[in-house]
Amino acid sequence: MINNTVYPSVSILGSTGSVGEQAIDVARCNGIRVNCLSANRNVDRVEAQARALRVKACAMADRDAAKTLQIRLADTEIKVYAGMEGICEMVAQFYDENEVVVNSVIGEAGLRPTLAILSAGKRLALANKESLVCAGEFVMKLAEAKKLDILPVDSEHSAIFQALRSGSQKEIKRILLTASGGPFYGMKRDGLSEITVERALAHPTWNMGAKITIDSATLMNKGFEVIEAVHLFNVVPEQIEVLVHRESIMHSAIEYIDNSVIAQMSVPDMRLCVQYALTHPHRAEAVIPPLDLTAVGKLTFAHPDTETFVLLQAAIDAIRVGGAVPAVLNAANEVAVSAFLEKRLDFVGIFDIVTQTVNALPDASRIYSMEDIFAFDGAARSLANEFLAKRGAIC
Ligand code: MG
Repeated sequence: MINNTVYPSVSILGSTGSVGEQAIDVARCNGIRVNCLSANRNVDRVEAQARALRVKACAMADRDAAKTLQIRLADTEIKVYAGMEGICEMVAQFYDENEVVVNSVIGEAGLRPTLAILSAGKRLALANKESLVCAGEFVMKLAEAKKLDILPVDSEHSAIFQALRSGSQKEIKRILLTASGGPFYGMKRDGLSEITVERALAHPTWNMGAKITIDSATLMNKGFEVIEAVHLFNVVPEQIEVLVHRESIMHSAIEYIDNSVIAQMSVPDMRLCVQYALTHPHRAEAVIPPLDLTAVGKLTFAHPDTETFVLLQAAIDAIRVGGAVPAVLNAANEVAVSAFLEKRLDFVGIFDIVTQTVNALPDASRIYSMEDIFAFDGAARSLANEFLAKRGAIC
């Protein structure tokens, strides 16, 4: 059957990351026009992408990288923007009325672009979960005021979003949020203290960037996803049950008030999530392989070990308290994970630095504005660095 649906064009922030590259692949497979790209400082890759896709504009968060890119693209019509302000200015331009902007920037740095995309009245395909972790209430209010849906790209939230077609938000009883359990499933703190960067970066099922791979290994990522789901689907934390599902086939489910459970399954491949966000409310021809359930054989489910993986519980506690506590949790985690990746902190040190920082900023529960969020983010980063210095460099 020929699919004649014309999809809206797309801009991709974080185009050199894992999700960004997969979004470009999906756009190509579906004949979707790409208008703008942004990245941090990988000039070579952005130049290649920009030329191949014949984009209208590019932005580099790093200003020196932007200067280099501008020189490299001097023979083209492509406009180059510089810095975070440049990224926000670029997404506010209209190259197409119906454009969807994929935000796959890593970390809290994705928050300002999220606000800029929604403020411009554009649909947001959100792969940057930190936007909702840090400022979920503000982001959701802005989307509501602009009458815009946020299209989730995170696989679990895409699954829930798809399962929501079987019922209404009011009919949700519980969300079953699945977790692979990470590469260290079943281990206790003693064993975890021996984990090296190399071992932590080998994720069993998903192909992802370094930061999110570590967050998956600590289950911090799953904690962030609980917070993300609370905001996206307007549920309370008590309505979310995290289930360890080692096979990564069922990507999450909704249990409705009639006890019917609607799950979404597929092979684990982010390109499906990106494609659904870009083609919603339609479905397009597959860009991923089909699921062979007989080859999978069986699907297993278990409760997570929150006593060992304390950051999952810390995230659930943080969203219960609310305010800027989730933003503090995220900021401390970004500092701790960077230190671990640079071999300045041991694996369980991530747990300790994050917990210490959250406990040291109890006032974060009271906030009144976006500025408060950014202030607590900064305070948490300084404090986490202090705790890191006190702990002493490992290498
Ligand atoms: Mg996920």
